[in-house]
Amino acid sequence: MHVEEIRWLRRGACRSSDPELFFPLAPTPAQEARAKAVCAGCQVLRECRDYALRAGEAEGIWGGLTPEERRRSRFPEGWRRPAAS
Ligand code: SF4
Repeated sequence: MHVEEIRWLRRGACRSSDPELFFPLAPTPAQEARAKAVCAGCQVLRECRDYALRAGEAEGIWGGLTPEERRRSRFPEGWRRPAAS
């Protein structure tokens, strides 16, 4: 990750939040909901989400999405099915 690429992170609403909320050792639905609530009011949500999807960030909440939600976004259901011939 290049610093230039995430310069927008300085304006992120999570800057003043507990990092454990966004990168928990043991994620729970309640923790994810609290982190997403912070993201919902963040002025750089779009940049953050685009970056995380592009970079393939595998851990933590980025742009209001969990790792699983990012995986699903990058690889929609059915993407492995063979094309109809
Ligand atoms: S969208 Fe969420 S994770 Fe990204 S910078 Fe904003 S508050 Fe932080």
